[in-house]
Amino acid sequence: MKSSPHRHTPAIIDLSAIKNNVQKFREHIGETPELWGVVKANAYGHGAVPVAQSIYELVDGFCVSNLDEAIELRNHLITKPILILSGIVPDNADIARSLNITLTAPSLEWLKLIVAQDKKDVLVGLKIHIAVDSGMGRIGVRDATEANQMIELADKYGIDVDGIFTHFATADEPNQRKFNEQKLNFDKIVSQLIRRPKYVHSTNSAAGLWHREQVQDLERLGVAMYGLNPSGQTLDLPFDLEAAFTLKSELTHIKVIHAGDTVGYGATFEATEDTYVGTVSIGYADGWTREMQGFHVLVDGEFCEIIGRVSMDQITIKLPHSYPLGTTVTLIGRDGEKEITAQDIAKWRNTINYEVLCLLSDRIYREYK
Ligand SMILES: *Cc1c(COP(=O)(O)O)cnc(C)c1O
Repeated sequence: MKSSPHRHTPAIIDLSAIKNNVQKFREHIGETPELWGVVKANAYGHGAVPVAQSIYELVDGFCVSNLDEAIELRNHLITKPILILSGIVPDNADIARSLNITLTAPSLEWLKLIVAQDKKDVLVGLKIHIAVDSGMGRIGVRDATEANQMIELADKYGIDVDGIFTHFATADEPNQRKFNEQKLNFDKIVSQLIRRPKYVHSTNSAAGLWHREQVQDLERLGVAMYGLNPSGQTLDLPFDLEAAFTLKSELTHIKVIHAGDTVGYGATFEATEDTYVGTVSIGYADGWTREMQGFHVLVDGEFCEIIGRVSMDQITIKLPHSYPLGTTVTLIGRDGEKEITAQDIAKWRNTINYEVLCLLSDRIYREYK
């Protein structure tokens, strides 16, 4: 979708908040492990390139979700290691090799496809991290036999097994049974390897926050870097994080409607008295989903309800009185004493804060401070 800088609905990204969060996380896990910033999905909506550039000196590498995200970073002179966390189409491994991008190897079958290609000689030196499914049930090998066969095959073709990693399903939950079970599975597989790769890693934000003793060679730091609690409201953070994402807009129209008048598609809101209605330039095409009806925004330091259906490009809010056109509307962030967080929205929509920010579309222009 076309980014729309001329529309007055900007996301304002506080890069210093992200840097502070990374620094606090570094203090939390100590000096030894490497810290790789997870900037997949356009850095959870914050902008992959500006985020990667701003934390460049604080991290040892980056993680993304696919080849195009990795190429975008390389095109912007990000030369530190980049690991693609998901399996990629094997045909594109030569691109990864030529740009020194590290691939996740999800299975022996995948690695066989890689080495079966005509262009396998250009893959010499390709770096891979073997994924282990210790209980997530997604990608990865489930035993050391398969991992060892992968190491042997990689050796034969000059592919560098640079790492092995797993991913936890419940690191953000109070009950640690599943977490411990996964950790045992992973440790067992690693202990049975014919050779230990340079990087053995397992921890995301949640695991690093609440199980810091489990951080191994490398921490994959995602959502916490952006100032969000990975557990939502379930677990308390061991230290404060600063939210980096503010979303603002302004009133594009104000009117009074009278008893019996309705607002929006489906005429779902009907006024019972004279009511000031303001219109704001954001809608479900921006990722401000239809579930936001009934939630609120901030105008002049006060909560104002979103009334009527959310349209593709506009919402309507109930105002206590008239305001001038162009009055600031805060959708995410603070206005005076009151604040709306991504987590508040997640709770309202019965989802997770990650999804709220990732869904905010490219049409919302990102500004940096
Ligand atoms: C997305 C992802 C992460 C980062 O997770 P956060 O919860 O955002 O810290 C780490 N590892 C893998 C494999 C991922 O897919």
